Amino acid sequence: KLYNQVQDLKGSIRVYCRVRPFLSGQSNHFSIVDYTEDEIITISTPLKHGKGQSFSFNKVFGPSATQAEVFSDMQPLIWSVLDGFNVCIFAYGQTGSGKTYTMTGPKELTEKSQGVNYRALSDLFHLAKQREETFCYDVSVQMIEIYNEQVRDLLIIDGTNKRLEIRNNSHNGLSVPDANLVPVSSTSDVIDLMNLGQKNRAVGATALNDRSSRSHSCLTVHVQGRDLTSGTILRGCMHLVDLAGSERVNKSEVTGDRLKEAQHINRSLSALGDVISSLAQKNPHVPYRNSKLTQLLQDSLGGQAKTLMFVHIGPEPDAIGETISTLKFAERVA
Ligand code: ADP
Ligand code: MG
Repeated sequence: KLYNQVQDLKGSIRVYCRVRPFLSGQSNHFSIVDYTEDEIITISTPLKHGKGQSFSFNKVFGPSATQAEVFSDMQPLIWSVLDGFNVCIFAYGQTGSGKTYTMTGPKELTEKSQGVNYRALSDLFHLAKQREETFCYDVSVQMIEIYNEQVRDLLIIDGTNKRLEIRNNSHNGLSVPDANLVPVSSTSDVIDLMNLGQKNRAVGATALNDRSSRSHSCLTVHVQGRDLTSGTILRGCMHLVDLAGSERVNKSEVTGDRLKEAQHINRSLSALGDVISSLAQKNPHVPYRNSKLTQLLQDSLGGQAKTLMFVHIGPEPDAIGETISTLKFAERVA
């Protein structure tokens, strides 16, 4: 049961799990993550110690894993974009579990604490440079968010957050052709854009109303490479997605807008789960049309595309219910 042949079943779908450390100020807590090794995680309640529930993944990162360690495992996946593959990386988990930390980094960003987004782009620049005698690469990015099933551009300067449409099969291969597409050639270009995107994402959010945990944000990297001898053009695309918090809200506790938001999130996360599990099971019908999120990623999920679902959990006992449902979601995908 433990080694459920995750690798064989899923083809190009991988599932990783990362456990957040206790945050500073939290002490004398019992971690529910009883035991971690390379591929297995065991959750146990403080009271029923010893009788844990185990889940297996392609890779498990414990609380002491560094950003660099986490990234180095994903590097081959990211490099394949330059060979013309489509790649999707998702951060999944409840609010506070570390999704943004993995994808972007902490609030006070240092070079060491940079997340996947920055590292991925700087790797692509680096590798493109190494290949410059045989290939000429152009790299551009888009950054959008999906909030209440509406798609918005995060790379706008004038603050008018216009609504966008998703088009599969658009002539230039972009699934959101009207979102700003910005050419980038250096890590500092990327840092500027990410700052702009994060600023736009925060518009309208108050302390109590943290928009970022209730919308999906997606950094899409488009790469076009021209083989300098044959002239052949390769296109690759990578979606780096920081998903909305997966926590279930209690219907009796929220109403109005908050309930509507929660229902949109639940629906789109289950649509994502449905798509990934039908791909994993090689099901001929893949239900892409059930949410904006899965429509957006359609061309990068399935087929030749490579997918990494990165689930995040915290060590705190009071969140054990959500943590187990996160792990069950991931297991279903696997
Ligand atoms: P989410 O995006 O899932 O809501 P965050 O990434 O914002 O969660 O993480 C919540 C808090 O925990 C932040 O203060 C973040 O800096 C911190 N944190 C998350 N993961 C780690 C980690 N692996 N190491 C250190 N601090 C972390
Ligand atoms: Mg976040």
